[in-house]
Amino acid sequence: MTKIDWDVVVIGGGSAGLSAALMLGRARRRVLVLDAGAPRNRFTAHMHGSLGHDGKSPIELLSTARDEVEGHGGVVRNATAVTTRREDDGFAIETTDARIVMARTILVATGARDELPEIDGLSERWGSGVAVCPYCDGYEVGNGRIGILATGPGSVFQAQLLRQWSDQIIYLPNATETPSGEERSAFEARGIRIENGLVKRVLSHTDKLSGVEFDDGRTIELDAIFTVSRLIPQDSPLRQLNAERTEHPWGSFATVDPNGKTSVDGVWAAGNVVNAMANVPVSIGTAALAAGAINHALVLDDIRLALDSNAVAATR
Ligand SMILES: Cc1cc2nc3c(=O)[nH]c(=O)nc-3n(C[C@H](O)[C@H](O)[C@H](O)COP(=O)(O)OP(=O)(O)OC[C@H]3O[C@@H](n4cnc5c(N)ncnc54)[C@H](O)[C@@H]3O)c2cc1C
Repeated sequence: MTKIDWDVVVIGGGSAGLSAALMLGRARRRVLVLDAGAPRNRFTAHMHGSLGHDGKSPIELLSTARDEVEGHGGVVRNATAVTTRREDDGFAIETTDARIVMARTILVATGARDELPEIDGLSERWGSGVAVCPYCDGYEVGNGRIGILATGPGSVFQAQLLRQWSDQIIYLPNATETPSGEERSAFEARGIRIENGLVKRVLSHTDKLSGVEFDDGRTIELDAIFTVSRLIPQDSPLRQLNAERTEHPWGSFATVDPNGKTSVDGVWAAGNVVNAMANVPVSIGTAALAAGAINHALVLDDIRLALDSNAVAATR
């Protein structure tokens, strides 16, 4: 029999992974977190919409969360899971620091990354002037001049959504189709201006976003830009385990039940890796649910193991 080191290995130490690890540590489970250390919101200095933590640095939140996990017996290691495979008695996870760890169960909480339009100066302002989520950053730029850099069909609604925060919304179709028909009428009805042209550059002044320049040389002044990024789940552990997937209009994500259980026995997932809409509080909450479900499954397994060993003892 292979030696199992951990009850649970959590792959990914962002808000989802650490939330689950805290629950599991408190349940006195042997829990290891492997973390590559690149949470999705690392580009922003202030996190919003997370009750009790509004305005806090996301890195500071995760540092406190690590301390809390370690304070309850969990181990957090700076390492990336490279391959994850099923073995007879559990799972083997090979890491970049050339170790193989063995786990009874796995929680994948590896998050997602944002693919942005390739425009000069845009990625430099990601998280400080350029944003994706109105609920995270809309309040701070309320009543400002907000450009909506269109990337696809979702951008028209993003403009209408941001109109909730400001009456100075400027829609930049860029390389997408200019809204017409009902969409255009709805823009006009709510005072959303359309500024056609290919965006050549995002402009900054004294380290703050100041506007955009079009390829015909025109410039407009802006206080912020919102854009719908393409969200790519970092789900190689789930792909390696052949977890089933669901195709959504916003992308292909591994399928999970309401408790985060995947189609693979012994494997759960939570946070942005399986849910494009998961902000920090949702990631923390869904991971806590998954942790409860994992512990429940482990208790059932503990009962089976105890019965088996009693039966063996009785035959001696
Ligand atoms: C610019 C920006 C600003 C945001 N602002 C807010 C905000 O104000 N409020 C809010 O609620 N939400 C905000 N969000 C959303 C927030 O980032 C996500 O909700 C949150 O990060 C999801 O948590 P997670 O744990 O699922 O993933 P993450 O936080 O991305 O954590 C995943 C972790 O897993 C690690 N990892 C990945 N692959 C592996 C591997 N193979 N092995 C080991 N580790 C791995 C990563 O390096 C990372 O550390 C923002 C997002 C962006 C892009």
